Parts: sequence; C-alpha cells; structure tokens
Amino acid sequence: ATPTALLVGTGRGAQLGILIRGPEVLESTRRVQTVLLDKTGTVTTGRMRTAAVHPAPGESAADVLRLAGAAEDASEHPIARAVADAARAAAGGSLPPVTDFASDAGLGVRGTVEGRAVVVGRARLFAELPAELADALARERDAGRTAVVVGWDGAARGLISVADTVRPTAAEAVAALRRLGLHPVLLTGDAHAVARAVAAEVGIAPEDVIAEVLPEEKVATVRRLQGEGRVVAMVGDGVNDAAALAQADLGLAMGGGTDAAIEASDLTLVNADPRLVADAIRLARATLRTIR
Ligand code: ADP
Ligand code: MG
Repeated sequence: ATPTALLVGTGRGAQLGILIRGPEVLESTRRVQTVLLDKTGTVTTGRMRTAAVHPAPGESAADVLRLAGAAEDASEHPIARAVADAARAAAGGSLPPVTDFASDAGLGVRGTVEGRAVVVGRARLFAELPAELADALARERDAGRTAVVVGWDGAARGLISVADTVRPTAAEAVAALRRLGLHPVLLTGDAHAVARAVAAEVGIAPEDVIAEVLPEEKVATVRRLQGEGRVVAMVGDGVNDAAALAQADLGLAMGGGTDAAIEASDLTLVNADPRLVADAIRLARATLRTIR
C-alpha cells in the first residue's frame, strides 16, 4: 500500500504546479544530485524571433528567407517557428508549399520548395560554407544568437540568426538548485558560444556547459554521469530531449513542452517556470522525511 504521506506529497505537488506520474517518483526526486538543463525552451523561452538574414554572395535575402520558411513551416521546432513566421510576414502572408519534408531532431529540416532541394539546420549538414557565411556565423554566435544555415541544391546559400530570451526566473532557478546542494549543468544542441552566453546569464560556469550535442549524445551524457555514480535529473521540453528524459533517473518536462517530452518524463512542470525543479526536489525531500 502507498503510504498516505506519498499521496499527500503528490497532491501538494499538483497544487504547486508539479504533476507527478506516481507516488514512487518522489523517491528518485529526493535522491537527485546532478540536474541537466536543456537550453532552448527550458532555460530560455524558446519563443525565438528572426534577428538577421545573411545571404551568401550572389544570393538574395528574400530567397533565403522564403525557401527556408517554407521548409520550416512543417516543423514544430522553436527555430522553425521563428523562421517560418518571419518568412510568411516578409512574403505578405503565404509561403510556397513544401513536399518531401523530413526533419532530423537536433539537426534541422529538409524539403522540396519551388523545385529546389532545401536544407535548413546546423552547419555540419553542409560539406562547406562560403567564407562570408562562416564569418557571419561566428559573429552571430559571439553575440549569443543561434544561427542556422540555409542551402539548396547541394550548397550553403545563406544564414538566418534567431534571438531567444532567457526565462526571467532561470537565474533564480539555478541559484535555488545550488542552495539544495545540486549541480546544475547546461546541455544543448546549440553552438558552444551561444550556450556559454546563456550559461553566463543564469549563473552556470563554462565548465558546466555541454554543447553541440545530438539527441543521442544527450542520452549518452546522462548515461556517463550515471556511470560515475551520479543520480541524474534531466529537464527538457523538446522531441530532441525525450530519450534523455527517459534515461535520466528523474525526467522533468517543461509545461508547454512537446507531447514526446511529457510522455518520457516522471514530472511535468505546469507553468514552464524552471524554479519548479527545485520546488519538486524540496517537496520530495520534505515528504519522505515525514515517512522516515
Ligand atoms: P536544444 O538542445 O538547445 O534544445 P536542439 O537539439 O533542438 O537544441 O537543436 C540543436 C541545433 O540543431 C539548433 O541550434 C539548430 O542549429 C539545429 N536545428 C534543430 N532543429 C532545427 C530546425 N527545425 N531548423 C533549423 N535548425 C534546427
Ligand atoms: Mg529544448
């Protein structure tokens, strides 16, 4: 039988805005030592705005934005939403259709638009970047902005940068985790420079930033820490986080996150407020203390 205190704990969690999959989850919550925080959509709002479009020499910004926006229109990724919205606005309301759409979690999207094979995503999707684009990419990242490469018919032809906003309570959330004796780590598929800029804003040191990882490398990171004897929590919102959320000793999905993330998690934070991570751990500790 489940001790009444555990049921009270899960009920108290619901009042705080923490949905707990089952009373047994409180035990792993109490034992957490390392907290891996996904960047985009977890530490940041994930509500991105397009900041700049850089066409490669010989290309037009309008083509880069329109073709990228059309390819991204079928994706739920925050970058995709920003690019598609900006492209639609620039095109006066509608985008050309995309066929053969495919997305690679943590990498980007591809599709056929206006007869061209369009790819939008990480630079590693392209064999090479024109020097002008490589320079623009470095400048955008140094400014803390996420930039994706746009190409078609086998060549990189432009760059689109998007600006995200750190959640207003993220720094407080990190401080609260430290006060509980926990070790917060930022884990992201985004570039090192962007990740370090966000980390600095929320009080995470550069050595606690793990960047440019693919979704399966997020899982491998969880496994590695577990292999070192750490009890690991993962906090995420995206399809790209689902496998790591499932592998972690405790998976926490941000409210408003994708269904895949919520289904893979033990706890769901109703309000997309990262301070709830520390609240959940405090609650689990208090609940189990009353039992012992
Ligand atoms: P995070 O770990 O910060 O949530 P993701 O794993 O979702 O980030 O994405 C990592 C990187 O992959 C992004 O910074 C971007 O460069 C690229 N990427 C992923 N999805 C898309 C997309 N739909 N369009 C363009 N780029 C994408
Ligand atoms: Mg994310």
